[in-house]
Amino acid sequence: MIEFHDVEKYYGKFHALKNINLTIDRGEVVTIIGPSGSGKSTLLRTINGLERITSGQLIVNDFDLADKKTDMNRIRKNVGMVFQHFNLYANKTVLENITLGPTLVLKQDKEKAKKEAMDLLDMVGLADQAPKLPAALSGGQKQRVAIARSLAMNPRAILFDEPTSALDPEMIGDVLDVMQKIAKQGMTMVVVTHEMGFAKRVGDRIVFMADGRILEDSSDVTGFFDH
Ligand code: ADP
Ligand code: ADP
Repeated sequence: MIEFHDVEKYYGKFHALKNINLTIDRGEVVTIIGPSGSGKSTLLRTINGLERITSGQLIVNDFDLADKKTDMNRIRKNVGMVFQHFNLYANKTVLENITLGPTLVLKQDKEKAKKEAMDLLDMVGLADQAPKLPAALSGGQKQRVAIARSLAMNPRAILFDEPTSALDPEMIGDVLDVMQKIAKQGMTMVVVTHEMGFAKRVGDRIVFMADGRILEDSSDVTGFFDH
């Protein structure tokens, strides 16, 4: 469902992605690791069109992202994103954060959207937080709301950009548990993370990046750590 063929990405003169070839199938959970500045976030952001590729071919859910005519809003409806710093709407309640996309963008019925949002909040263990503002929540709780918000759009895939890097250590487990649950439900996931435990337990594949290149792409998730 995600196919990179000979993809290059420049920021001005800076060569951020070099000869990227990568195929991610429906239902796969791919973990991307590598040093800071190696292009992980850039790679992730090309998948939902937040960054445009400079050359090569990138197909996401049958959309051609190299084609300037492709409607990026349609891509973003199909591919959700969870950010390091949650990006919740500060002046909306937890429930509203989740119902906003489905009602405004997908034009879902308000009551239906509310019911689905409550089901999702229940799934991430936060049904009792629905009426609160994000500021009243811990970082781990905010991230679980962000994941529920992403799921409410019924995406074909979800991208995670260092979802636990801004969290206190004791919050990380709850977020990883939710991500594992979603993976078990068959969601296609691309996860930039330093959490090797997640990669080993949940990931199907590990992609290692350095200096804009994919240096290794391994399905041997456990063996990856032995060399
Ligand atoms: P990583 O996620 O592995 O830390 P990034 O993809 O964020 O790496 O960044 C890769 C390189 O591209 C870094 O050197 C970064 O400074 C540069 N970069 C990222 N975004 C931009 C941008 N919008 N303009 C210019 N350079 C950028
Ligand atoms: P994070 O690592 O928290 O994801 P960054 O600080 O790397 O965030 O980047 C924040 C924003 O700045 C991103 O949109 C990224 O593309 C952009 N950016 C990163 N590096 C550069 C750069 N060297 N020049 C211009 N923009 C950059």
